[in-house]
Amino acid sequence: MRKLLKGVHQFQMNYFSSHREFFEQLSQGQHPRILFITCCDSRIDPNLITQTEPGELFIIRNVGNIVPPFGVHANAEAAAIEYAIDVLDIKEIVVCGHSHCGAISGLLKGNRLSDHLPSVHAWLRYAESTRRVVLENYQELKGEELLSAAIEEHVLIQIENLRTYPSVHAKLYGGQLNIHAWVYKIETGGIIVYSAERCNMRAEHESRFTEPRLDELETDDDSDNHHLDRNSVSAPLAVE
Ligand SMILES: [Zn+2]
Repeated sequence: MRKLLKGVHQFQMNYFSSHREFFEQLSQGQHPRILFITCCDSRIDPNLITQTEPGELFIIRNVGNIVPPFGVHANAEAAAIEYAIDVLDIKEIVVCGHSHCGAISGLLKGNRLSDHLPSVHAWLRYAESTRRVVLENYQELKGEELLSAAIEEHVLIQIENLRTYPSVHAKLYGGQLNIHAWVYKIETGGIIVYSAERCNMRAEHESRFTEPRLDELETDDDSDNHHLDRNSVSAPLAVE
């Protein structure tokens, strides 16, 4: 705790005082351009890995970067998604899973969690589709390979869940929203990005995620050709 308080003090004395104008501007209102959905895991820092400033990302974090399907019951994720789309008029959503995700690892363990982590077990029921997809399609994988496949499939399934939200669906239909599927690799700092071109690839089990080339990373931020196809769960290759 002492480290935290010392950090707050340093922030106020150094960073804040040299960026006073920026923070005054922020106090007038928020205009983030990206809804960033990721895991609670302490090793993930959305602003650090995307080199963004306060005010740029509207962030939803929960155990396992889960997007519960619309209408299951009132939940914080649904409120944040609605606010992001309908009030902040956000046009880009990133669902960002990560390597070595404890939540997905727990999900694969199934009922073994229910005794000592009942709340985690209950929350992970929203990711039951991921568990089923992995169990039925990845029988030959084990250990880390199985976990990696599950992490990737999970991100894609959360994108399907996003589409169940009326506000998201309507904006996708109108071509006014892009959704991106990422997996952050803690050990390399790399982001692998879902490739729509590889979406028809079946199980045996080449990843449908690829690491973008540097020239792709320089893609124009406002490029118009990355719209999620309204009839398919796919996401663009380029990181913007
Ligand atoms: Zn995680």
